[in-house]
Amino acid sequence: MGPGPSDVPPRILEALARPTIGHLDPLFVGMMDEMKALLQYAFQTKNELTLPVSAPGSAGMETAFVNLISPGDTVIVAINGVFGGRMKENVERVGATPVIVQDAWGQPVDPQKIEDALKANPGVKAVAFVQAETSTGANSDAETIARLAHAHGALVIVDAVTSLGGSPLKVDEWEIDAVYSGSQKCLSCTPGLSPVSFSERAVEVIKNRKTKVQSWFLDLSLVMSYWGGGTKRAYHHTAPINALYGLHEALVILQEEGLENSWKRHNDLHLALRAGFEALGLSYVVPEGSRLPQLNAVTIPAGVDDAQVRSTLLNRYNLEIGAGLGDLAGKIWRFGLMGHSATAKNVIFALSALEATLTELNAPIERGVAVAAAQKVLIEKGY
Ligand SMILES: *Cc1c(COP(=O)(O)O)cnc(C)c1O
Repeated sequence: MGPGPSDVPPRILEALARPTIGHLDPLFVGMMDEMKALLQYAFQTKNELTLPVSAPGSAGMETAFVNLISPGDTVIVAINGVFGGRMKENVERVGATPVIVQDAWGQPVDPQKIEDALKANPGVKAVAFVQAETSTGANSDAETIARLAHAHGALVIVDAVTSLGGSPLKVDEWEIDAVYSGSQKCLSCTPGLSPVSFSERAVEVIKNRKTKVQSWFLDLSLVMSYWGGGTKRAYHHTAPINALYGLHEALVILQEEGLENSWKRHNDLHLALRAGFEALGLSYVVPEGSRLPQLNAVTIPAGVDDAQVRSTLLNRYNLEIGAGLGDLAGKIWRFGLMGHSATAKNVIFALSALEATLTELNAPIERGVAVAAAQKVLIEKGY
């Protein structure tokens, strides 16, 4: 129950073990076509340029920046946690200039600040932000930010690594131009693949580039010779065949459950876990209304040793949770409820293991109430 990777279900592990066939084998190519349709469903898009990059979420991030941004461009980057900081790095490394819009860690991106930055910097190429900040659990309003960016003629680049499959993400309805995700968070696949999708508007920008994309491997105009579809597929790099079997299975599982049902399950279980945390006396880092269901960050009670609690949970209860990052290191714990890990059983288990551990350490918590509080919500929600 950390911030990813989440538990990988047996169906996906079995898919990974299927025989390795060639990356141009007709059977494999058929699976690639299915994969594209499944990804379009997961992203809620009709974008033709939708594919899994053969590398982790960070490579999806890099794919968006190296293809859309050229040297000399200006890009507004919202930073409200670890991953916004990485977007800034990407902008600088393509030779563009970042304009930083800062929000406190734990807060969502403030659309008003984005609008102010757009007004102050006419001609900005893109607005980039993290929808689901995994370092804090903050959920930013992607729809509003995208609308503001387009009103000023800027492209919209969204990090949806932790949102895809776990909480609402509507690429076409919200008019997102470039979005990237990861296989190991709410899709519960093994790490190492990054689903991405690009709008027609983004494709036009890529086609009209005056300079070559700095990365040969991530240059979408080359990658599309393989992923572009039709009969003319050609070798670009050897696709990670077995990893793609796994992602295909993960997306089939998502489709079987239904995207909205998956969003609802993550939210219901978040409400149950939250009831338990609040009964213990723990408070959330992120204000109500901006919390991600799949990433629950709570403040460590005064006088409690962070590392001791996490190692007890891991070694005695076999439960992994996440530590705080950056400014929040040593101050918070991050409980993931992602994909296959988002179950009623895990909610009850995490609360009882945490309560037992904190009790043993004489922490200032309310005892004997957390599981009951969570169970009440679970029963209300029909679990
Ligand atoms: C995990 C994560 C990434 C990076 O993904 P990797 O697969 O670790 O490269 C990027 N952005 C966010 C918001 C993430 O949670």
